[in-house]
Amino acid sequence: MIESHSSTKLLNEETKAVRIFLWLFYIFYISFELIYYYIFPNLYRGEGFSVLSRPKEGLGLWSYFFIFGLLPLAFYLMKKKNPYTIKYLYIYCFLAIDTIHNLLIYVNTDKSFAAGNIVEVVFILFSPIFVNKKYFWIVSIGLILKYLFFGIVLQDAQVLAPVVISVILSTIAFVILNRFESYIHSLNKAHEELRRKEKLAVIGQMAAAIGHEIKNPLSSLKGFTQLQQERYPNTNDFYPIMIQEIDRINSIVNDLMYLGKPKQINFSKTNIEEIIAYILSITQQQAKQQGVTIETLIAGPLAPLECDSHQLKQVFINLIKNAIESMIEGGEIKINVEVLDGSKMYISIQDEGCGIDVESLPNLGEPFYTTKKDGTGLGLMVTNQIIKDHNGEISFDSRQQNGTKVTVILPISQDK
Ligand code: ADP
Ligand code: MG
Repeated sequence: MIESHSSTKLLNEETKAVRIFLWLFYIFYISFELIYYYIFPNLYRGEGFSVLSRPKEGLGLWSYFFIFGLLPLAFYLMKKKNPYTIKYLYIYCFLAIDTIHNLLIYVNTDKSFAAGNIVEVVFILFSPIFVNKKYFWIVSIGLILKYLFFGIVLQDAQVLAPVVISVILSTIAFVILNRFESYIHSLNKAHEELRRKEKLAVIGQMAAAIGHEIKNPLSSLKGFTQLQQERYPNTNDFYPIMIQEIDRINSIVNDLMYLGKPKQINFSKTNIEEIIAYILSITQQQAKQQGVTIETLIAGPLAPLECDSHQLKQVFINLIKNAIESMIEGGEIKINVEVLDGSKMYISIQDEGCGIDVESLPNLGEPFYTTKKDGTGLGLMVTNQIIKDHNGEISFDSRQQNGTKVTVILPISQDK
């Protein structure tokens, strides 16, 4: 996932990880070779250690040729700005070289299997530095399969020890890798949240300033248009349209200004039935024009809701308008209200409209996100804000072409 973003920062991170890996790999490799094949046999000469002589067995000195031959290749890939493949190159080549080497040594002999290189520990334990699950699995499973392969081919139970060690090391690496990933994920989330807040703050300040300046001329414009309409009632069909459009500008400005200075919320006990009756009366006209019927189902007499009724009306007008606008060919909207747990009111609005695709779900409520020709992309943003101010929640359940169900959950009383 991370690799698909080839931004320079991530490229640098990968290069750093590759450098650390290369240093560790060669330091451990060289130390192991020196100690195991040259220092030990010399120290304990005559005590059975002389059998271990690297240059004469298996691939012999060719192993060094291959292992160190990878280094210029790694540098070349880093220079070509493609450090991502280096880690795979090393694990695949190491597995191949080691397997051939061991096959040459042990097949058709009765020597007991004693392979195992300290760099395998480096491979597994340091795999989390690349923060890449795919690589981790390739390393762990690759090394374990290698031992199982030799166990079967050589009919030797000695491989059990390295298998067990590999499993333990892999578990440790897996835990570390998971921590890394979850940490990065949270950081990303926090960043995203911050970015969104900053965006809102900037828009809010701008909107408040501009909105304020627009509202005054707008109200005189509306006043004069109305006056003109009264004066010449028969001359011009355009006055109602002009007034309607001025109202539209006004409502957009209001939505925008809501961000700049969230309004004072006046909580009072209100019947949800009243709010719904009001919004139905407002949206009736538009619904009728589009062949949409609205069915309301309210479960029993409900306790009054502590809310700012003016703002909640705005919420449900936004949601019902969206529902109507999604049903170009008409259909039915179902509004369902019920109280669950005695403390929470669930209000759902289900339409049979075009639905929302999964990729767009996170965009809902982003300022100016709209898919409509003359949408503003402000409705859901204001809706979200109002519901948040009411300590409520909103969720969207949508299937493309089948419709959308929007559920709003509000606490009945605000004093908890
Ligand atoms: P606007 O209605 O001005 O486009 P909103 O913030 O109200 O802005 O909605 C943003 C977008 O969310 C819409 O353009 C639409 O794509 C999508 N949307 C919201 N509600 C629904 C719904 N009930 N059905 C389908 N799409 C919806
Ligand atoms: Mg809308």
